Amino acid sequence: MIIEGERTKAESGKTYEVRNPATGEVVDEVPAGGAADVDRAAHAAARAFTTWSKLPANKRADILHRAAQHVLTKVEHIAPILTKEQGKTLLESRIEAQRFGENIAWFADLADKIHGEHVRLPDLTTYGLVIRKPIGVCGAIVPWNFPLTLAANKVAPAIAAGNTVVLKPASTTPLSTLACIEALIEGGLPEGVVNVVLGQATGEAIVSHPLIRKIALTGSTPTGKKVMARAAEGLKKVTLELGGSDPCIVLDDADLEGAARAISVGRFFNCGQACLAVKRLYVQEGAYDALLEKLVARAAKLKPGNGMDKDSRMGPMHTETQRSEVEAQVKDAVDRGAKAVFGGGRPNGGEYERGWFIEPTIVENVPDGARMWTEEVFGPALPVRKIKDLDEGLRLANDSQYGLGSSIWTTNMAAAHRAVEELEAGYTWVNALQIAHDELPFGGTKQSGFGKEHGVEAYLQYTEEKSVVYGGV
Ligand code: NAD
Repeated sequence: MIIEGERTKAESGKTYEVRNPATGEVVDEVPAGGAADVDRAAHAAARAFTTWSKLPANKRADILHRAAQHVLTKVEHIAPILTKEQGKTLLESRIEAQRFGENIAWFADLADKIHGEHVRLPDLTTYGLVIRKPIGVCGAIVPWNFPLTLAANKVAPAIAAGNTVVLKPASTTPLSTLACIEALIEGGLPEGVVNVVLGQATGEAIVSHPLIRKIALTGSTPTGKKVMARAAEGLKKVTLELGGSDPCIVLDDADLEGAARAISVGRFFNCGQACLAVKRLYVQEGAYDALLEKLVARAAKLKPGNGMDKDSRMGPMHTETQRSEVEAQVKDAVDRGAKAVFGGGRPNGGEYERGWFIEPTIVENVPDGARMWTEEVFGPALPVRKIKDLDEGLRLANDSQYGLGSSIWTTNMAAAHRAVEELEAGYTWVNALQIAHDELPFGGTKQSGFGKEHGVEAYLQYTEEKSVVYGGV
């Protein structure tokens, strides 16, 4: 773990093994932290807050820029660590490590640009101000699918705004997070500004720690509900980035090549283990056969394999449980009469016997009520359905408890605009790849949570407004 700038063991002395999902081999052994370690980390963060929050904002920005640049020089060191603990391909890991550094730099740019307001009051011998202050110590709880991106989404705006952080990666992906935070510290981030605690038990301890004033969680919807209930006891602010089941609608007039590329990347990137991902596909009758053919051709090129192997196009799933879950969802669809037009099983033989590999899978004729429509499919399996028109597409798209991302492919601007207005989601892409941009606020609606990451909005959510009245002037 990293507390007050130092690598440290758990108070209990306990450790656990981190294993490679592609081979089952032990990658490393790390401390299994607990409540006592969270307490140490929270106190370290509170001490650091007294100086970090008072630095001039331009100085904070300089420090963060230098630290971010140092992380960017370490991408080739960090990427294989991420691949070995998470499973994703080296290319995907490089992108993620790079994004970590870029995200810190993006928010560093904001540190001295956000300001308060002067407000005229009726009594002209007084005047009002609205000032923005950092909140204090913030807790950041991260899942295993994008350990670095999702850590940066929380840490970067928090520290740019003058807060300090206790960060908890998922228990199966601690190593790349430690490497990134260590690189920030080597690059000049003062000790205690970001502390990392490891182990399953540290999540609940963060949420209930009295010194921690805000909790940002990315995780599943059931975890989000538990965290919110626990955080309510301490009246803490919460940001919840939860599960999703993003619909994609493709109309007859769409650019089918562009759509096929975006859907393929959107569903199969990171072995389908992404919150923002094309998880339900609705295609108008006239485009259906041609699009399906293109999707199958693309899926056929996604060779599963160990992420460290340069020929692999899709790593293994992260855990055996995750793979079983996706397989059960596909089986449920097939048992109800659906047909796998590509994949539907596991690649077998050789290296495939040692890891949690799965084939990219496309399933058609999935009946209403099947788990692939009603649940989040957190793996590389895509249900496809033929629709008559946009009305039907929008009705089916919105028939979900989730509301994270959504997309539409059409050259008809009126249809696109209607989808933008009516799709119940925190994000809609029109004829574009589902990528979360630094510049745009990202977050869900419905059971996908609330609060924003990315954009100026995320920065503001790591500040509190305070009103001030100056009298007698
Ligand atoms: P998870 O909910 O099991 O765990 C997420 C994190 O929360 C982990 O660090 C875990 O240890 C911690 N945690 C679990 N229970 C906790 C508790 N009671 N109190 C405090 N912390 C607790 O999720 P996962 O399986 O690691 O990740 C997959 C889920 O995350 C999917 O549902 C996916 O859609 C979602 N996700 C959402 C986004 C988004 O931005 N909306 C992004 C990526 C993943």
